[in-house]
Amino acid sequence: MKAADFSYHEVVNLQDAIKIKAQDDEAVILAGGQSLLPALNMRLSSPTCLIDISKISGLNEIKIDGQTLFIGALATHSDVMNNKTVKDNMPCMIDILKMVAHPAIRNKGTHGGSIAYGDPAAELPALAVATNAEIIVSGQNGERSINAKEFYLGLFETAINQDEIVVGIKYPLLKQGQKIVFDEVCRRHGDYAMAGLIANIMGSKNDIKDLKLVFFATGDKPDVADKTARLYLDNGYDYDKLKNSLSSEIDFAGDLNSSSEMKLHLATVLIKKVLSKLEN
Ligand SMILES: Cc1cc2nc3c(=O)[nH]c(=O)nc-3n(C[C@H](O)[C@H](O)[C@H](O)COP(=O)(O)OP(=O)(O)OC[C@H]3O[C@@H](n4cnc5c(N)ncnc54)[C@H](O)[C@@H]3O)c2cc1C
Repeated sequence: MKAADFSYHEVVNLQDAIKIKAQDDEAVILAGGQSLLPALNMRLSSPTCLIDISKISGLNEIKIDGQTLFIGALATHSDVMNNKTVKDNMPCMIDILKMVAHPAIRNKGTHGGSIAYGDPAAELPALAVATNAEIIVSGQNGERSINAKEFYLGLFETAINQDEIVVGIKYPLLKQGQKIVFDEVCRRHGDYAMAGLIANIMGSKNDIKDLKLVFFATGDKPDVADKTARLYLDNGYDYDKLKNSLSSEIDFAGDLNSSSEMKLHLATVLIKKVLSKLEN
């Protein structure tokens, strides 16, 4: 199939992109095109206007900004994986990105695109929620920062206003004793996950002081399971109890990859898999 007709604007600065987006309710941003173009070609989406932001310079910066790691929206997954600042400060992000698609897609797909798209099966939105990241958006009224948990509202639904564009993501730097541990189950390497878990842990295997569990590919957005994390801290790993807790806390939604019951089972097993990676 081919995409429906649309007008195309290639912009070289952010203000022009914001201006066009503000004027047209149906205009959408084109970044790496790895999610948008297949959706257009399959006619899952038919916007009247595309604003190509890929030529805007400076939006791919990766740097330490105060106590945060800042990743510019146009940094590709490959840019992030090969960046020394990321490697030194948040090596877990590189391990996570190795599970995102394949090299050809990672060479084009952008960090901001993945965050903005909000695919419930994607790894980066869950990482942003697990690490309490801030999403920086820019619009007609200037810049604002949205906490990742408040950013994801529902299925492919985010808190971005029509005139706004994601310009970067700020991940708090990890504190002493803090670890981000991750795992997912997928049918083939590079496929979207059937279920995945990112855990933000303070402490060591035998002395976990704080635990945050964020699941992806389970519901309609990154799923935070605070009650289940508390249960694990109080009682350790008990499959039945944790499964019951997860089923009351998350609205598991089946997809082409797996049923909701399978996702619930995998999510329960992932708690054990992820936490067994911790060292003493
Ligand atoms: C075969 C295949 C397998 C994949 N597997 C995975 C996977 O396992 N895990 C995973 O996480 N992803 C996967 N992806 C998606 C990939 O990571 C995409 O790169 C990413 O989701 C979107 O990035 P993009 O730059 O290509 O965005 P685009 O496709 O250009 O845009 C996607 C959406 O985000 C919006 N958007 C983009 N940038 C911005 C911005 N700066 N501000 C506001 N809105 C913006 C667009 O308007 C559009 O609605 C896969 C893709 C393919 C084709």
